[in-house]
Amino acid sequence: MTMNPAFTYAPLCGAPGCERPARYRIAAPWSHHTSSELKNYGLACEQCLDERLALARARHARLRLADGEAVGEVSAYPLGRLEGAPGGEASRP
Ligand SMILES: [Zn+2]
Repeated sequence: MTMNPAFTYAPLCGAPGCERPARYRIAAPWSHHTSSELKNYGLACEQCLDERLALARARHARLRLADGEAVGEVSAYPLGRLEGAPGGEASRP
């Protein structure tokens, strides 16, 4: 058995049936009182980006906001830039 030294976790596009590596994260800035983060709507490759973006915007438009919640516009964030950013994928209970 050999280990592949070049192995890295490559997230895939979130479109059904698409197995290309994701290039973008679709997300919208979300804030609640003093805390803010990106609300994640999934991942997309180059080819599926427009379609995934349209779907995410449709979902986003139906979102009901609680008191004190505010959301920004859904947009595509190139993946490479978010990785390694502090607090990007922090999981909280
Ligand atoms: Zn795709």
